[in-house]
Amino acid sequence: MSGPVTTEDEAPAEGGCGDTHRELEVTDPHEAQVGRFRVRRALPRRARRTVGSWCFVDLMGPAEVTADRGLDVPPHPHIGLQTVTWLIAGEGLHRDSLGTEQVLAPGQLNLMSAGRGIAHSEEATGRYAGPLQGVQLWVAQPEVTRHGEPAFEHHAELPQVELGSATATATVLVGELAGAASPARRDTDHLGADLQLRPGTTVVPLEQAHEHAVLVVDGAVEVAGTAVHAGQLAYVGVGHDELPLSVHEPARVMLLGGVPFPDRLVMWWNYVARSQDEVTEAHRAWASGDEQRFGPVASPLARTVPDPPPWDRG
Ligand code: MN
Repeated sequence: MSGPVTTEDEAPAEGGCGDTHRELEVTDPHEAQVGRFRVRRALPRRARRTVGSWCFVDLMGPAEVTADRGLDVPPHPHIGLQTVTWLIAGEGLHRDSLGTEQVLAPGQLNLMSAGRGIAHSEEATGRYAGPLQGVQLWVAQPEVTRHGEPAFEHHAELPQVELGSATATATVLVGELAGAASPARRDTDHLGADLQLRPGTTVVPLEQAHEHAVLVVDGAVEVAGTAVHAGQLAYVGVGHDELPLSVHEPARVMLLGGVPFPDRLVMWWNYVARSQDEVTEAHRAWASGDEQRFGPVASPLARTVPDPPPWDRG
């Protein structure tokens, strides 16, 4: 699924990616449009660009889809990132320029590595009607893989682990948590897990070298004693080996973590790069229909081509 990055969340002119030693920082999402859906975008925000290599976090829905009207994100390109697509409810269909056609259901992971360039769409399944809810995450690829070949993985089964005194069940999408390791490809040292919390306090073990964030998907959660609501992101800096999460009612959160990303990112639309020139080059290739860079997607939806980035107009 796609997440155009607008100028609203451009990085501040001065300063880096945010203080990586903060005790607890809660940020509100802003609303954005993806396909036919309004989404709550929790990352990037002006004050918080990345959490580990996680550089983009959208919370989608819940919203109703039909068999032939889904998220309806038309073919669009990516470079330099992995898309991590995770559904809470519903089904969607992923198509990409590698020829992949993959239905995604809750509990399954779609992981697409863009490398030097890929294109994809997100569509209705032709069979599922009902609520659709999920998260769309991006991981910035490191220098060693971001110029490489594109790839796609689907994981129908992922490891689960009980946390605390059975007050939480974690599904590990990527990386490792409490001894459970995901088989998904990982180009940097990062973690992504879905936590289903039951009433009580769950002490989540953390990797001290990682910074972390908790995205509340459903419900209300006290993160280290601070109330955090659905759509908000609670950030905790490096140097912590545990994080208490308390709920009165069942709740759902995503736990994201990783070693602070070393490079300053330039993100525009669906491109993650290191310079404006890289973005310009990629977007000119997409706009001109360069199929060496971005292959065709066998989608009934028309490919989308927005105006060039602001520095490449006129
Ligand atoms: Mn996309």
